[in-house]
Amino acid sequence: MVTECPIKAAEFDKTHKAPRGGRNHAGAKELAGGYTKEKRCFEITCISFVGTQTCIVLYLLIKNFQPVNIPQMIVGIFLGIITADFLSGLVHWACDSYGSVKMPVFGKAFIRPFREHHVDPLAITRHDFVETNGDNCLCAIFPLLLVIIAVPLQTQDQISFWFPVYLYLIALAFFVTFTNQIHKWSHTYSGLPWIVEKLQDWRIILPKRHHRYHHVAPHEVYFCITTGWCDHPLELMRFWTMVEWTIYKLTGFRAREDDLKWTNKK
Ligand SMILES: [Zn+2]
Ligand SMILES: [Zn+2]
Repeated sequence: MVTECPIKAAEFDKTHKAPRGGRNHAGAKELAGGYTKEKRCFEITCISFVGTQTCIVLYLLIKNFQPVNIPQMIVGIFLGIITADFLSGLVHWACDSYGSVKMPVFGKAFIRPFREHHVDPLAITRHDFVETNGDNCLCAIFPLLLVIIAVPLQTQDQISFWFPVYLYLIALAFFVTFTNQIHKWSHTYSGLPWIVEKLQDWRIILPKRHHRYHHVAPHEVYFCITTGWCDHPLELMRFWTMVEWTIYKLTGFRAREDDLKWTNKK
């Protein structure tokens, strides 16, 4: 697994103090109040849809599994997890850095939770299963749909050949679905099941200390929140800084202006 960047760790230890904000922050109250009944209905629909898809995919997997191409299957699962981690960083970075809560529909539904999380990082620990995982299910629909459509159209030999790719898509969908649950666990300091703490210690899912680097204002590093494996290489490449610089040069948009407004709200 990836080790923590020593430079970032030193910076973090020098600068990290108790996070500002919290549930009494003016912005946090307003943002928490933006969670609507319509949004909850949407989340329940997404969870139900992905739950049904998962049952179908599990049936197809069990029915068609052949013990061939095992190393390729393992590689497929591993790449699926890495892709999920990178996508978690990409979506997190994009929603933290650009857009506004005031954007029609999208802003209140999808940007609001990211702003709330910076002004009240512990709000996520008070969210139930639906509010925590509903949005991510939306992103898992497409990879599961590919498996459900492709497998019934193929012969057994074709299915065996493509099985590592199906496992890639399933691992991707599984880790995308539970990214925010994993993120919530990284903010939970008591009452976690033993196995979750072990998975964090073994760095199979996002460790608590690793994710704390992101919560140092202005929230410009360590965006990956599934396993955190991609963070170290991306920070070494200054990947997000380069993309933000390119966007600024092309469009004039500066990263995290909206986020800063909420952080400074009195
Ligand atoms: Zn963030
Ligand atoms: Zn967080």
